[in-house]
Order: sequence, then C-alpha cells, then structure tokens
Amino acid sequence: MEEKIVLTKLNENELYDFVSKYDDKKFRINQIINWIYNKSASGFDCMTDVKKELREKLKEISIITDVKIKTKQVSKDGTIKYLLEYSDGNVAECVLMRFDNRGNLTACVSSQIGCPMGCVFCATGQRGFIRNMLPYEIVEQILTIQRDTKLKVTNVVFMGQGEPLNNFENVYKAIEIINSKLQIGIRRITVSTCGIAPKIKELTNKPLIPTLAISLHAPNTLLRKQIMPVENKYNLSELKEALKYYIEKTGKRITLEYVLIGKLNDTKEIALELISYMKDLKCNVNLIPYNPVLSDCDIKLNKPDKKDIMLFKYLIESSGKKVTIRLERGADIDAACGQLSGKS
Ligand code: SAH
Ligand code: SF4
Repeated sequence: MEEKIVLTKLNENELYDFVSKYDDKKFRINQIINWIYNKSASGFDCMTDVKKELREKLKEISIITDVKIKTKQVSKDGTIKYLLEYSDGNVAECVLMRFDNRGNLTACVSSQIGCPMGCVFCATGQRGFIRNMLPYEIVEQILTIQRDTKLKVTNVVFMGQGEPLNNFENVYKAIEIINSKLQIGIRRITVSTCGIAPKIKELTNKPLIPTLAISLHAPNTLLRKQIMPVENKYNLSELKEALKYYIEKTGKRITLEYVLIGKLNDTKEIALELISYMKDLKCNVNLIPYNPVLSDCDIKLNKPDKKDIMLFKYLIESSGKKVTIRLERGADIDAACGQLSGKS
C-alpha cells in the first residue's frame, strides 16, 4: 500500500495541488486549511462543511499529521509538557503555559533537536546537537497542543530546545505559517536567542519581525565566555550593535534574559556592569534563577540565594529598567527553563 500523504508537511501550493486533483474549488481548499490550522482538526470526519466524497477520498490517501504525543505531563500549576515523536524517531519537547490572570496561552516551542551552542548551564546544550527542525515540525508543536487541549494558543515563544537563529530559514518559515495560518500576531511571537549577532540583523531586515529576547547572562566578555561559547564568536559589543539595529528599526523594546547563577553572575559588582551595558538599550530584564542541571563543565554552578536575587533585582530596577523574575512554571514536571533536554 502506498504511504499516506501527511497534509501538514505540505506548503500552501503543495496542498492546493494535492487537493485540486480531487476538487478544484479554491474555497474547499481554504476550508481544509482552516480546519487543519485554525480549528486544529485531527481527522476528516469533523470537517462537516467539506463535501463528503472529498473527505472520504482524503481519508483514504492522506493523514493530517504524523507527529505523535509520546508523553504528556500536567503540572500542579496547569503547565503541560509534551514530548513529541517525529517520523524519524527523534523527539522534542514543547510546553503550554497558562497565565491565568491575562487569559494568555503561551506555547514554548523547540527549534532544533538538541542544540549546538553548548551553554554550560543548559541541559539541552550539554546534550549536544542532533539536527535542525523543519518548519512543519515547529508548527506541529502548536497544533498538537491545540488538538490535545481544544484550546487556542495565543502566544508563541521560541524558548524550548535549540537556538532558533541557528536554524534561521526554517524558523522564519514557521513564523510565517504561525502568523498567517494560525493567526497569531507577530508581536505575540517571541524569538529567544543566545545572541547570534548577524542573524539578529538578518531577522530585522525581514518583513515579519517577531519580538526579541536575548539570553545575556553576563555583562562582560570574560565571564560570558566561561558560560556561553557563543561569546567567542559574536562578543557583547557586536551583540549590542545588532540589538541597537533591531530597536532602532522596529521601535520595539527587547527583553534581556539573565540566568542568575549563585555567586558567579549575581553579585553587586556584576549588577553594576549589567546596568552600564544596558544603559543605551531599550529593554526590560527577566531574571531567571538558575535551575541546577547535570553538567560536566569545570565551574561549579549553584542556585542563587534569595537575598542576592532580591538585591540584584533592586539594583537593576534602580537604574530605571523594568525587572521581572521568571516564575518557575511546571517545576514539578521539569518544564522550567533549561530543563527541556528531551531526556526521555
Ligand atoms: N537557545 C535560545 C532559546 C532557549 S530559551 C536561548 O538560549 O535563548 C531557554 C532559556 O532558558 C534561555 O534564556 C536559557 O539561557 C535559559 N536556561 C537554560 N538553562 C537554564 C537553567 N539551567 N536554568 C535557568 N535557565 C536556563
Ligand atoms: Fe542552546 Fe539556548 Fe541552551 Fe544555550 S541556552 S545551549 S543557546 S538552548
């Protein structure tokens, strides 16, 4: 028997060509696109406004998706973590976070299987790189969440496994689909990067420019090199130049993410250096207390003390920046930042 066609693997033209062999009315194809992407259909029977003959034909020769939920964990705080399995047997994690007070449903998606950037504090980075994810494999994470929960995702953050700007073309194509077919506004899509400066500029030159979050984690080159190998290639001053370009061109505020590691980058002196680095950047700061992960790096990494977190926050706030401390979401199911290693 011939293998069935997977519809979410097809782009719009391919889907059009495929369906038009059986029904050449454009509106029918749009109906099908709408069922798959907007109404998160998992089968053809529910597509009640599509002609029965066409539905039956499609059922015979195609499936909507070949991505499977391997495991699903629900946290006490409502966070859901999925481990998805792709057709080649590789797995990746995505997380649904509910921010009850605002009614937002945020999907945290992965962009690579593993990550080549090697940050020493990050579980994904320590497990190495396997491959880039395809656009449909990224979009499928959101669709799977929507199919499973019957809820509509309102925001997407590229904060799962992988470095999105290291898989630029596929991530950009995924953003186009998320924006046009899943109808999630470009401001509600956030790309988080460890700071690949030339790619930040390239993104800024694209027609669709998502919100930007930067994993900074250290305000001076020496310290940053100890924990983030990317600093050897694109250093803090090159990064700042790219960030200024983004801010000037878009007018948007960026978020600087800062993992607080006990006694390493959470001291008063470092806070003052960070203030000086951010002086001419339009940004907010998101502090993330370090979550211990297994790491074979030389330096010992510790959780920060509560009082050091509060002092760090106070100092940064005094400089006029808005500071948030990232809530540990789904900590009981290892869904917090840096914990998505695909270890199962
Ligand atoms: N590669 C991108 C996207 C991943 S986002 C990036 O690095 O920005 C994941 C966020 O969690 C990043 O800010 C990352 O630095 C942070 N993170 C990684 N490991 C962590 C850990 N052990 N504890 C707390 N935050 C961590
Ligand atoms: Fe990759 Fe981001 Fe982890 Fe660094 S923090 S290793 S860039 S996923």
